[in-house]
Amino acid sequence: PVVTRFAPSPTGQLHIGGARTALFNWLFARAKGGTFLLRIEDTDRARSTEENRQAILDGLTWLGLDWDDEPISQAARADRHAEVARELLARGSAYKCFSTQEEIEAFREAAREAGRSTLFRSPWRDADPATHPDAPYVIRIRAPQDGATTIHDAVQGEVTLGNDQLDDMVLLRSDGTPVYMLAVVVDDHDMGVTHVIRGDDHLTNAFRQKLVYDAMGWDVPVMAHIPLIFGPDGKKMSKRHGATGAAEYRAMGYPAAGMRNYLTRLGWSHGDAEYFTDDQARDWFDLDGIGRSPARFDLKKLENLCGQHIAAADDAALLHELEGYLAAIGRPALTEGQRDGLARAMPHLKERAKSFPELFEKAHFLFAERPIRPDEKAAGALDPVSRGILAELTPQLRDATWQRDALEAVVAGTAEAHGLKLGKLAGPLRAALAGRTVSPSVFDMMLVLGRDESVARIADAGT
Ligand code: GLU
Repeated sequence: PVVTRFAPSPTGQLHIGGARTALFNWLFARAKGGTFLLRIEDTDRARSTEENRQAILDGLTWLGLDWDDEPISQAARADRHAEVARELLARGSAYKCFSTQEEIEAFREAAREAGRSTLFRSPWRDADPATHPDAPYVIRIRAPQDGATTIHDAVQGEVTLGNDQLDDMVLLRSDGTPVYMLAVVVDDHDMGVTHVIRGDDHLTNAFRQKLVYDAMGWDVPVMAHIPLIFGPDGKKMSKRHGATGAAEYRAMGYPAAGMRNYLTRLGWSHGDAEYFTDDQARDWFDLDGIGRSPARFDLKKLENLCGQHIAAADDAALLHELEGYLAAIGRPALTEGQRDGLARAMPHLKERAKSFPELFEKAHFLFAERPIRPDEKAAGALDPVSRGILAELTPQLRDATWQRDALEAVVAGTAEAHGLKLGKLAGPLRAALAGRTVSPSVFDMMLVLGRDESVARIADAGT
């Protein structure tokens, strides 16, 4: 059975790169009927905060990336990591190194001057334990010095590093605390992780991690190092290119389903499919769909997909997500009346909205109170002639059957009487009803607002 994990360090927010890594691990686990675990890599005590941890969990929850079991704290497992270091020592795969910082520096300095590799080679590697001093020591792994180490990466293919590039990395510091590189391997092994899917900035670490697996006689999980996300200019995505935090995209009001779809496409493909549902992604997702070249972040494409997901969403679910969005940006909760109005208008609001702010903007007519104060653009549609026509329409609408056909007939008749196309009256009616130039169609608004409110707004705007 497949076991994947997402292993964020709570030293910062959840970035879109991390969100995508989490998404791939989640999708792969869900696609294979496996397990998706969460491990918080909080060994950097100084930089790890509870606030960041919570922000990461919130970001994953927003994106709908549900994890199995309780999140694991890496720091809480330090004893287990140290135990493995001691086990490697007992097996002779690691050794005690008594070199001081000064000695290591001196070694490097001499190597630099002689033009040799500055990778530290400890004199204690082959020392007889009988000669060990009674002094602080670190535990180092006994890395192979010749030959090469090869990683069979599911994305990158075979990647080989000469072992002369590997030093005897420290596993346990002199104060008995484990290093990160050891902790990752022990945790992945103990958690039964079968597939490690992560950013390719970790590829070089994989060689050192493989040493630990090999020394313990553990199976190396399938590795899949995915290319990092680039900005439109082909450089690693950063603040210069726009928002990098998952929470920022939430605050911009993009729906989670659109975000999932977009992030899935960011580095993974299935034929020429751009828009797909979660079920389709689950059916299709596999490691061989991950590309080898970095994907470029494209906000337009994200918005396009978000628009399609909003249009396709279930009305009630969309309203629920809209309320979550409003809460996330600190807006007051909807009143009962507002919620009812939104529920009724949702089929019209969700057309052509790429984000919740756009959807909300279209809903302005629901929340506006009489007299409607048109914004500048809308006011332009209320010229004297138009206002005269609105005044003429008012009694006719008051008496009309409140159904789309009947309303259209009334408005079309009035337009015709003035030698105008029906569309010419849409602007003034929209301005009267919504006070905006962006809104659902006038007939949709009238049906949602009902007769009394609609007629009153049109009467207000007419002269
Ligand atoms: N904690 C590491 C990071 O946040 C991830 C390590 C891994 O996935 O192996 O970059």
